Amino acid sequence: MNDWLFPALALLLGLLVGSFLNVVIHRTPRGENVAWPGSRCPHCGESLRWFHNIPLLSWLGLRGRCAYCAEPISMRYPLVELLNALLWGVLALKTGPGLEFFFIAATFSALLALSAIDFEYFAVPDSVNLFALVTALLAAAARAWETDTWGPLIDALRDATIAAGGLWLLAWILGKILKKEAMGGADVIVAGTMAALLGLPGFFVALFVAALLAIVPSLMAKDTMVPFVPFLAMGTLIVYLFEAPIFRALESYIYG
Ligand SMILES: [Zn+2]
Repeated sequence: MNDWLFPALALLLGLLVGSFLNVVIHRTPRGENVAWPGSRCPHCGESLRWFHNIPLLSWLGLRGRCAYCAEPISMRYPLVELLNALLWGVLALKTGPGLEFFFIAATFSALLALSAIDFEYFAVPDSVNLFALVTALLAAAARAWETDTWGPLIDALRDATIAAGGLWLLAWILGKILKKEAMGGADVIVAGTMAALLGLPGFFVALFVAALLAIVPSLMAKDTMVPFVPFLAMGTLIVYLFEAPIFRALESYIYG
């Protein structure tokens, strides 16, 4: 297979999956079924035809407005489709073809949906959150299967348990001291997903990157809440893609 063929196919598939992510982002916080019924305009409720549902192209063709009521369609729709397409293309370059790619891509897509839901609704639905954790562990299982050793899966299970358990303990202790809930169960699951993907050292670096990325928006937002899941997801992606150069830089910084 050509070097570019798999990433190009992944990009196209990512575009289609991005379209489905929009359905997940819209319906999961409302407790609706993601598979049925078909897509409707959230404003006028009119059922969309198949040609209204083509990723990116329909939004461009309709000039960002509903075909029936002309109400503007959120920029989030083309944006999520485009981001997920790029995400799948870049991840395909990183992992190469194989079973592991699909589980890794599914994990990051779930993190993208989770980020958008947290951003729009300040909610982190357990269904999408647990889906990301399961696919991250399945990616490790796929790597174990491809390399014919149990190591990657055992490492991922151990690191996810330590990260999630550690954060749960920290939240419990902080809750006792501050007499209020410091962190939700959602953060504990996200931590497990991050550690399953990155290992423990990578998990801590990703937390640090996420905190760095969140500084400016937090200062700008002042009193309003800043959703943290989008920053955790970005930190996780950055460390996943650039693990080797980041750790080389850290080593040369620490050991001179
Ligand atoms: Zn409409």
